[in-house]
Amino acid sequence: MSAADRVVNFSPGPGVLPLSVLQQVRDDLPSLPGVGASALEVSHRGDWFEGVIAEAEANLRSLLRIGDDHRVLFCQGGASMQFAMVPMNLLHGAGADHIVTGSWGARAAAEGTTVGAARIAWTGEPGSFVRTPSDEEILGALDPAADYVHVTSNETIQGVQYAGTPALPDEVVLVADASSDFLSRPLDVGRYGVVLAGAQKNAGPAGVTIVVVRGDVLERIPDGLPAMLDYRTYAEHGSLYNTPPVFAIYIVMLVTRWLRDEIGGLDAMATINEAKAQLLYDAIDGNPDVYQGHAEPSSRSTMNVTFRLPTDEDKTAFLAGAAEQGMVELRGHRSVGGIRASIYNAMPVEGVERLADFMRRFAER
Ligand code: PMP
Repeated sequence: MSAADRVVNFSPGPGVLPLSVLQQVRDDLPSLPGVGASALEVSHRGDWFEGVIAEAEANLRSLLRIGDDHRVLFCQGGASMQFAMVPMNLLHGAGADHIVTGSWGARAAAEGTTVGAARIAWTGEPGSFVRTPSDEEILGALDPAADYVHVTSNETIQGVQYAGTPALPDEVVLVADASSDFLSRPLDVGRYGVVLAGAQKNAGPAGVTIVVVRGDVLERIPDGLPAMLDYRTYAEHGSLYNTPPVFAIYIVMLVTRWLRDEIGGLDAMATINEAKAQLLYDAIDGNPDVYQGHAEPSSRSTMNVTFRLPTDEDKTAFLAGAAEQGMVELRGHRSVGGIRASIYNAMPVEGVERLADFMRRFAER
């Protein structure tokens, strides 16, 4: 198998993984060196997996510069389960403030109401979710008494991303759903009470959700939660209270190793990601009669590039033409329409160049 055997995969998630990681998984699948069994067959309490989960955490800590104040937890149930787990663990009677910049933020707020008070403090819905709010807009909308504030760092469906961490007073407990831009750029983890991310875009396969929780948040968790829904269970048992998703965590270890050794860390990754996204935004902006970007320029995502074509026929022709050239999974989410190119960390620059090139030729036609 080589890169030439693979499509250019713009899937929004589970998304493309580094080829070198897949090759290593293939090589070691029947028998891990020194173990003689597959990663699919070994105990989560054995030496091999203890090394794996320790390295996965260490790599995440060094890539994201996570300090001792924060614990790194490996959960299951996806980011969707976190939409309930966060309020279960963080509510203390005052309620949560949600900043809704797209479909996932809306989902989190709705799920939050099943646990306690979840208030939509700001929403971009009236404008069809084309931007993130400014710091002033967020500040003006918050309830100062709220237990925490939930933001979605990158809205996967709309392609709307915060340029950086919103500047809010230190006492605000900030919770970020970073599922679709985790590890795509440096993140000021110290500023967050909780950062949560399903792995299946940039960090690995589906099946594991990485949750980074600050110590003071852990200390204040209300008693009486079911064990599997209490962050302390994961913190106290090194995410080994029950059987964790061994294979998924193994791949997170390999992907974070790739980021460290082959990419050179998150500053380097961010530079590459910005350059890749710029290729597509240039193709959009250079052909305004044909392509209409969904997000406002200042809120454009480096991970999910969303745009529309003038008619449904144009869209169908675009998707068919792209597929002929091996570029797949470009159809936009049904709620937004148009095209969505998801260009996660492992999408090669050449794949994005091929799409940008196709966009220009398609526009000329
Ligand atoms: N949040 C965001 C930003 C997402 O992109 C997704 C999935 N695409 C989710 C939450 C839900 O994740 P999961 O399917 O792992 O529950």
